[in-house]
Amino acid sequence: MANTLQVEIVTPARKLWSGEVEMVTLPGALGQMGILPGHAPLLSTLDIGEIILHTGTTQQFIAVSGGVVEVRPGKVTILADTAESSEEIDEERAQAALARAEKLLADNPPPSERPVIEAALRRGNLRLKIVRKHHGRRSSEAMHFDK
Ligand code: ATP
Repeated sequence: MANTLQVEIVTPARKLWSGEVEMVTLPGALGQMGILPGHAPLLSTLDIGEIILHTGTTQQFIAVSGGVVEVRPGKVTILADTAESSEEIDEERAQAALARAEKLLADNPPPSERPVIEAALRRGNLRLKIVRKHHGRRSSEAMHFDK
C-alpha cells in the first residue's frame, strides 16, 4: 500500500491546493478526524475548523468554513465553502469580523438570526486562532499553494 495520499482542496472560487501527504486531519461531522493511506471510503460534511496537511517534515494549516470531504482509495477530495492557508489569513480582517459578530450577538438578535451570526463568530475565532498559532511556521518551498 502506498504511504501517501493525494489531497485536493477546492473552493467555488479556486483550487487551493493539491499534492501528496502522509496524513490529513480535518473537521468532519463527528469531530476532528485523521485520514491516513488505506482509510475506508467515506463521505462527510465538514464543520468550521482546521485542516492540517502532514508531509514528512512539514505541516500546513488551513481554515475551512464548511463543505464536504470524499475519501476514496489513495485520494481525498475536499470541497470547501471557503478555505485559506494560515499565511493567507488577514488577521485584522478576521478580528474585525469577530468584533462585528460579537456586537451583533450582544445586541440580542432574533433567534432566527443567531445561527448566521454565531457561524460568523466561529469563522472569525478560527481564522484568528490559526493565523496567531501558525503564522511564520509554513514551509512554502515544500507546500506550494495555488493562488
Ligand atoms: P468577512 O466579514 O471579513 O468577509 P466572513 O467570515 O463573512 O468574513 P466568508 O464569507 O467566510 O467571510 O469568506 C468570504 C471570502 O473571503 C472567502 O473567499 C474567504 O476565503 C475570504 N476570507 C474571509 N475572511 C478572511 C480573512 N480574515 N483572511 C483572508 N481571507 C478571508
